[in-house]
Amino acid sequence: MRIGTGYDIHRLEKGKPLLLGGVKIPSEKGAVGHSDGDTLLHAITDAILGAAALGDIGQHFPDTDPKNKGKESQYFLKEVLKLVQAKGLAVENVDATIILQAPKLAEYIPAMRRQIAACLGIDVEKVSVKAKTNERLDSLGNTEGVAVHAICLLK
Ligand code: MG
Repeated sequence: MRIGTGYDIHRLEKGKPLLLGGVKIPSEKGAVGHSDGDTLLHAITDAILGAAALGDIGQHFPDTDPKNKGKESQYFLKEVLKLVQAKGLAVENVDATIILQAPKLAEYIPAMRRQIAACLGIDVEKVSVKAKTNERLDSLGNTEGVAVHAICLLK
């Protein structure tokens, strides 16, 4: 068994799309990023890389590379899965916590879990996504950003 953690944060701006776990969330503000800004997928990708001691998402897909501009983050996740599988490892489970002040995410979580499970080729029961506000504290609580903590177990 190998365990890894991942963290990501993106600034939010009015008029940008908000994608979390490959699911488009109706929102006044969306994430600013070189790729599609999917903070949830980035944190999970880093957790998987961490568990395999394979570096981080920025090393594999640098934001200085024009190839990665506007790229779907599901691509990063799938590519990293291949690297992990090449080491003879498989994803056992993933758990993530999204910190977003608004909008509320509860109704979108089942779709995020399905999407992530499909990318990883595992049962949806092995993918957990939780969401909370920042209780209006600090920049996240002030709707300036979205952050995600993730953890992954490889076997
Ligand atoms: Mg990111």
